[in-house]
Amino acid sequence: MTAEDYPDGSTFRRIVDEAQLHAAVQRIAEGIARDYPHGYPLVVVALLKGAVVFLADLVRRLTMPLEIELVSARSYSGTQRGPVVAVQDDLSRLGLAGRHVLLLDCVLDSGHTLHSVLRSVLSCEPASVRTCVLLRKQRERAVSIEPEYVGADVPDVFLVGYGLDYKNLWRHLPYVAELPPGLAGE
Ligand code: 5GP
Ligand code: MG
Repeated sequence: MTAEDYPDGSTFRRIVDEAQLHAAVQRIAEGIARDYPHGYPLVVVALLKGAVVFLADLVRRLTMPLEIELVSARSYSGTQRGPVVAVQDDLSRLGLAGRHVLLLDCVLDSGHTLHSVLRSVLSCEPASVRTCVLLRKQRERAVSIEPEYVGADVPDVFLVGYGLDYKNLWRHLPYVAELPPGLAGE
């Protein structure tokens, strides 16, 4: 089987349906509203491309002043010690010094990505940083990172939909599904 055998993803096993996603986003938004009551502009930094759907849904449930920034990070198997994550963008251009930053990703898997981007954000000397993931895979993590906001725990399978892709496909599915295992090894 190849990706072309699955034109619309409708047969994929659903992991988190639309209603569950909306409830998870709402819970996260309520937590953020509680934690940032002061009215200063928040800088929401989202990771491309996976977090864009989550970002769009989340920010429309937030009422405090906020700015949106998008950054790319790429992970690749660099050394025996595990994947290297490169932040593709120069974060210094964002002017995060002294700002309150909320770092957003769609899914926490090994933890390398968020950990590495968090380090880069911290080096910009923001006033505060919190991290937020919509989905957290239930697995051992290579690096220790506990996001302040988590939408839902999910099984350790390869996920597509709601921003997550396989070969850049299926990001637009309104639910999160498991990539058919026969495709994953392709
Ligand atoms: P980590 O660095 O925590 O292992 O993985 C985080 C990044 O890997 C995410 O930003 C996402 O781009 C990608 N990723 C991790 N798990 C999945 C998955 O199940 N499906 C997809 N499409 N991407 C994933
Ligand atoms: Mg991807």
